[in-house]
Amino acid sequence: MTKRFSSLLEVRSAIDANQITLPQLVDHYLDRISTQQQLNAILEVFSDEAKTQAQLIQDKIKQGNAGKLAGMVMAIKDNIVYKDHPASAASKILSGFTSLFSATVVERLLAEDAIIIARTNCDEFAMGASNENSAFGPVLNALDNSRVPGGSSGGSAVAVQADMCLASLGSDTGGSIRQPAAFTGSYGLYPSYGSMSRWGLIAFASSFDQIGPFTSSVSDMQLLMEVMAGPDAHDATMLQTKPDYAKASKGPLKIAYIKDCIEHPGIEAEVKQATEAFIAELKGKGHTVEGIDFPYLDSMVPCYQILTTAEASSNLSRFSGLTYGHRSSQATDLESTYKLSRTEGFGPEVKRRIMLGTFVLTSDYFDTYYTKAQKVRQLIRQKTLDIFKNFDVIITPTTSTVAFKVGEKSNDPIAMYLADLFTVQANLAGIPGLSIPYATHPGNQMPIGMQLMSNISNEGLLFELAKQFESKA
Ligand code: GLN
Repeated sequence: MTKRFSSLLEVRSAIDANQITLPQLVDHYLDRISTQQQLNAILEVFSDEAKTQAQLIQDKIKQGNAGKLAGMVMAIKDNIVYKDHPASAASKILSGFTSLFSATVVERLLAEDAIIIARTNCDEFAMGASNENSAFGPVLNALDNSRVPGGSSGGSAVAVQADMCLASLGSDTGGSIRQPAAFTGSYGLYPSYGSMSRWGLIAFASSFDQIGPFTSSVSDMQLLMEVMAGPDAHDATMLQTKPDYAKASKGPLKIAYIKDCIEHPGIEAEVKQATEAFIAELKGKGHTVEGIDFPYLDSMVPCYQILTTAEASSNLSRFSGLTYGHRSSQATDLESTYKLSRTEGFGPEVKRRIMLGTFVLTSDYFDTYYTKAQKVRQLIRQKTLDIFKNFDVIITPTTSTVAFKVGEKSNDPIAMYLADLFTVQANLAGIPGLSIPYATHPGNQMPIGMQLMSNISNEGLLFELAKQFESKA
């Protein structure tokens, strides 16, 4: 899709050349937001604030004391809190909730003069792969309104796709940034687990969740990570050092692809062809590319589902109708407050996951499911890390199909869960995964993304490789 600007570099040179001012740029994005409401990507626009900030930051640019992100206009997913602003994780249970503080990543963005223009629609509590689970209705893919944008960060993906902002934030527990990035033709990153503070991210499954960006360029991705990542005392699961995002390789890379991914019966022929073309192109650029066996593919989604639902059932117990958000008006005592508030406030997918998670944690089934899945996760993690003894990067298609039709999978949760087939590996192992726009489906013109994964904290290699394909898709 045509965008006014594809990177902060372009914005800044246009501002420096007096072709546009920051207030005019904000007006451009506000205009895009208001003329594309049918996509349902945005839950709330912060127009007055964005305009005020634009004026202040424009002055700073003139005076030469603006931050690194001056000119970066962003939208944030509705599960990332922003002081004095509502956040609902696209759930009715958080209606009326306004945050008393900002997520660490939001504070870091603002400190470098980014402007936050809106909060975006998503699947309720980030549970979904199509954005059809929002309490505020589905988000539509801007390239074809009969198709989904992917999920759960579908609003953030479409905000970038449809030029409503320059970059956005999503969260990724099993693919919720990379899959919508692939479905909408943007860059999307699941950062190394522990490189991004989860302080201020409304938790889904804490040992998997990371916040990450959607961008239209690798340079913006690199810059945003540079600003946002790094230790934070508020999050005890953080890595002690920040990855070096500019770290370059010393020569051609050793790249592995997982044979089972390409041979998988669920993969669409055009996605398979694009992956083969990608492999050929990598070889053409001098990299070594080898197919490897990784016989755990079919265990990954079940393992992910058991562990994430278990964590979610615990994390979501805080929504009790007592402390914040929705409280049932029918409640008469403590127990009915819990029961009715949760019954009325949560949507069907969230209820399904709380039930599943509660089930796998019951004492009768704990060892059969939860403990077993923990062992499987450990095995997948170790086997994945072992690959990096011989290779720098693992590649897969980001998804096995292009964006599917609205309603196509909404009554089949298992089919929907399989949309995460290639993405959950990074979350299970804690390694970074970057989805890059690579090709378009020759029949329906929908984007096809490739996923690049590296060892923990080696995002620099992924950015370097992604740049080699930057004007491709
Ligand atoms: N689609 C996956 C799920 O439904 C991933 C969600 C996510 O990454 N937040 O769980």
